[in-house]
Amino acid sequence: MLTDCYKRLLYVGGVKRNRAVLMDQTNPALRRETPLVQVVEASKSFFLGEQEVKALKEVSISLESGQLVIIKGPSGSGKTTLLNIIGGLDHPDQGAVYYKGKNMKQLSDSALTELRRKEVGFVFQSFALIDFLTAFENVEIPLRMMKMKSKERKERALQCLELVGLGRRAAHRSNELSGGEQQRVGIARALANDPSLILADEPTGKLNQETARHIMELLHRIVREHHKSVCVVTHDPMVCEYADVIYEMNDGEIRRETADHD
Ligand code: ADP
Ligand code: MG
Repeated sequence: MLTDCYKRLLYVGGVKRNRAVLMDQTNPALRRETPLVQVVEASKSFFLGEQEVKALKEVSISLESGQLVIIKGPSGSGKTTLLNIIGGLDHPDQGAVYYKGKNMKQLSDSALTELRRKEVGFVFQSFALIDFLTAFENVEIPLRMMKMKSKERKERALQCLELVGLGRRAAHRSNELSGGEQQRVGIARALANDPSLILADEPTGKLNQETARHIMELLHRIVREHHKSVCVVTHDPMVCEYADVIYEMNDGEIRRETADHD
């Protein structure tokens, strides 16, 4: 007999996939069909005094490994709220979020914190680096939080800086770096714990178009070469050129578009 949750999954992303999700419970051969993240009819409201702001209205979205998903939409359309929900920083009032098939609402606080630390890397519009630390020390932060040993930590932090093309800038303070370089450090820090999913909130918002393109090329390469899932929210139409899948948000509602290339 179907549980309520699995009945709800039938409404998302086409019958064939959802049959695979349903069968995933009994047939291990189909396990790879389970999306990395599945948001099912998530709604979220905020209250400003008496006034209700419906930030998300029954939003459903799937993120797969090896895909760069773009969620575009104007300011105030609910993009950050959705990203926070996908990353386990917030919960929907209604609906559910599944991470590798697990309902995030059913995880304990410590399990959710561990999931966030190990599985999700966040990239921010304003980079969120600590100015007085070097690029290397900024990338080390999540590794320290995971209590990784010093030698391993150093190797990993350098490896991540090299991956984003900043190996030679490791000893520079972040306030000595350009905006594009700071965002590369932000991406290196997001990669440090080798997460499956990278969530980027307007990562190009503070950069000029040329630098923004370099950042998108880097995120695209991370998806292709390292088989990560990257989800970028943006109001910059240029970013969509790098998408495998595009969603559009408007006033708390989401709609899937086809990618406008290939
Ligand atoms: P976007 O990232 O697309 O600009 P947000 O997700 O930040 O949109 O916000 C969606 C709506 O929810 C906006 O109307 C915003 O004012 C409101 N909102 C978001 N966070 C809060 C909050 N913590 N308290 C009150 N209202 C909020
Ligand atoms: Mg936002």
